[in-house]
Amino acid sequence: MNRRYCSIAFLLLVFLQVNAQTDKQMNTFIDKLMSQMTLEEKIGQLNLPVSSSFIAGERKDGELSPLEQRIAKGEIGGLFGMKGAKQIREKQQIAVEKSRLHIPLLFGLDVIHGYETTFPIPLALSTSWNMELIEREARTSAIEASIDGINWVYSPMVDICRDARWGRIAEGAGEDPFLCSEMAKALVRGYQGKNNNYTVENTVMACVKHYALYGAAEAGRDYNTVDMSRQRMMNEYMLPYKAACEQGAGSYMASFNEFEGIPATANKYLLDDILRKQWGFKGFIVSDYTGVQEMVNHGIGDLKTVSARALDAGVDMDMVSEGFLKTLKQSLAEGKITQAQIDRACRRILEAKYKLGLFSDPYRFCNEDRASKELFSVQNRTIARETADECQVLLKNDKNLLPLKKGGNIAVIGPLGDASDDMPGCWAITGKGGQSVSLYQGIKAALGSDGSVKYAKGSDLVADSVLETKLNGMMGFVIPGMKVKKVHDRKPEELLKEALDIAAGSDVIIAALGENANMNGEGASRSIPDIPEPQKELLKALVSSGKPVVLVLFTGRPLILTWENEHVPAILNAWFPGSEAGTSIAGILFGDVNPSGRLTTTFPRNAGQIPIFYNHKNTGRPHGETEPYARFRSNYIDVINAPLYPFGYGLSYTSFEYGDVILSSREMEMNGKVKATVRVTNSGLRDGKETVQLYIHDIYSTSTRPVRELKAFRKIKLKAGESTEVAFDLTANDLKYYNHELAYICEPGDFEILIGPDSQNVKKGLLTVK
Ligand code: BGC
Repeated sequence: MNRRYCSIAFLLLVFLQVNAQTDKQMNTFIDKLMSQMTLEEKIGQLNLPVSSSFIAGERKDGELSPLEQRIAKGEIGGLFGMKGAKQIREKQQIAVEKSRLHIPLLFGLDVIHGYETTFPIPLALSTSWNMELIEREARTSAIEASIDGINWVYSPMVDICRDARWGRIAEGAGEDPFLCSEMAKALVRGYQGKNNNYTVENTVMACVKHYALYGAAEAGRDYNTVDMSRQRMMNEYMLPYKAACEQGAGSYMASFNEFEGIPATANKYLLDDILRKQWGFKGFIVSDYTGVQEMVNHGIGDLKTVSARALDAGVDMDMVSEGFLKTLKQSLAEGKITQAQIDRACRRILEAKYKLGLFSDPYRFCNEDRASKELFSVQNRTIARETADECQVLLKNDKNLLPLKKGGNIAVIGPLGDASDDMPGCWAITGKGGQSVSLYQGIKAALGSDGSVKYAKGSDLVADSVLETKLNGMMGFVIPGMKVKKVHDRKPEELLKEALDIAAGSDVIIAALGENANMNGEGASRSIPDIPEPQKELLKALVSSGKPVVLVLFTGRPLILTWENEHVPAILNAWFPGSEAGTSIAGILFGDVNPSGRLTTTFPRNAGQIPIFYNHKNTGRPHGETEPYARFRSNYIDVINAPLYPFGYGLSYTSFEYGDVILSSREMEMNGKVKATVRVTNSGLRDGKETVQLYIHDIYSTSTRPVRELKAFRKIKLKAGESTEVAFDLTANDLKYYNHELAYICEPGDFEILIGPDSQNVKKGLLTVK
């Protein structure tokens, strides 16, 4: 052994010893604590209610509120949904000072893409293909959340989704298991820090969700049934959950859907056989919101039965249902569950608290002073802007209409053109909606005195005013007494006339259309994911005006843009860019930033093509993607198979050229390594960023495999005219899949190695594995 290896081995040994020492200390501490706990107190640790003022109730005459009384009684292991270091400190103080054993609480929250400072929605983040940027997003969010009292975040959401109808596609990284796995790891690193040591300042515990397969809900309808083969599950859906586990994620959330006829919340195969036994997950599992209770609706038993089944399957904490709290004691008395099962779950919750350092300092996450200075700070907003700059996808740019010159008269038209509240997108409950920069504000600031900009709404968001009122509420709800923007308060003709008048006096029209923040995310499935009718009519009128039109699209899902692609000269998909939306979009529109986002979901031509994804199987009757109407092939007779925009696609203000794929060897031994190289040249006039993508295709395998599978990518920066070689090391590991027996193997034979700017435009090399 040389010296270098000796010192690595020594460090590893020290690390293992320190860890063993810490584990020993933790176990001794928890053993002692648990020996003093009553059954009720143990069950209390497994209970996670939601806390918001209207559920928790207020304090009256100095008495503790109903929720606080429960904390004092030891009925609660953690709370979620609270915001504010001061409020959290107050509740923690009750747990620590008034409960019998002084056990601190966990404080969880949906920190999905930012806290007060919001970042692009996760689907948009994934289009950056920049894992350092994504890690920095999570780090910044963790810092903001942790100084404000939060120690546990309900992210990353790693559900693979190939169905644009599903509203929650916005919360994940799209359709590809490899990319989604890379993003899952980057987010866990960002939240938990590189060593998963939560006692390091400003690290929080991640919660990987929704385990498992939630993104495959039938027909894209939220909460719907999931059914698929185990082989498909392992190859196409499970990798991101596994990657997050390997990265050391501290907790998992069971999903709402069923799998093989058993809801995930009671699915022992998913929770225990795979997550714990196969992957070695050691943390705790929480149900989703009322996930335990909902199993009554699934039809597998009453509250007592389903609670016992959830515990037995491996759920440790019950979010909101209170099924554990109300029924586990009786189930134990009846012999339906064991004391060991309750102890096991309780221990896992206590371990999380211990690892978070809450027993040494229960208030370490409450830093009112820092919170008052650092939340939504200029520095964090700058990071949000830099992030947003890489998370937008230029879909079309005829005759280089973009970038625009700063000057002249610009018309910003559309219901999303000055919609500051919507810019954070879905699941941004603690984000500063109203203080985010709208597109109109961003353009105005960028123009300064160089030109003029006018804004008109132009149309309603959707045709149905009742729906639009709800969409302007909180997550699609209007709670009595809630202030909601006035909707449909002007006639459509009046809105249109005002818009066309402004358009007539402008040099260029920027149409800001699509979905608002509540049209995607949880509970927001759409049967036809497109630009809603009133906005489409507006767009048609704007295009007919003869002025150049740039469509800036706000959306949380791939939309059907077939008409738009044919008639609108430039389309920039901004998704929901977060706090600095308008600043960042303006930067791209005026060319201060060269767009570099690449799609991570396939865009369909019509709703009937859904689900559509690049990594599909070939079938026995494959169809050329562009040949229409062929009978007895795997296609439709009324639309071609090719998507409107493929996975990996996105334009830049410059152009890139790819050389041939060069393999360091045509053959590779099973334990060998091969280098695949390609020369990439920036052949345009501007500096730019390009994402070089490597796909494989296993030509013959014992079970069928997809026509293409992403296995590596690299985002590079090239100056105008610059050229570089991009090299990828390939081993058998990159070529593996789960075969019919669910063994993860590389089968010898020929593989195509495909490299290019997206999943369709690739150059090929051929590799034989021996
Ligand atoms: C969602 C989860 C979320 C939880 C807590 C549920 O409805 O499915 O993603 O973390 O609520 O807010």
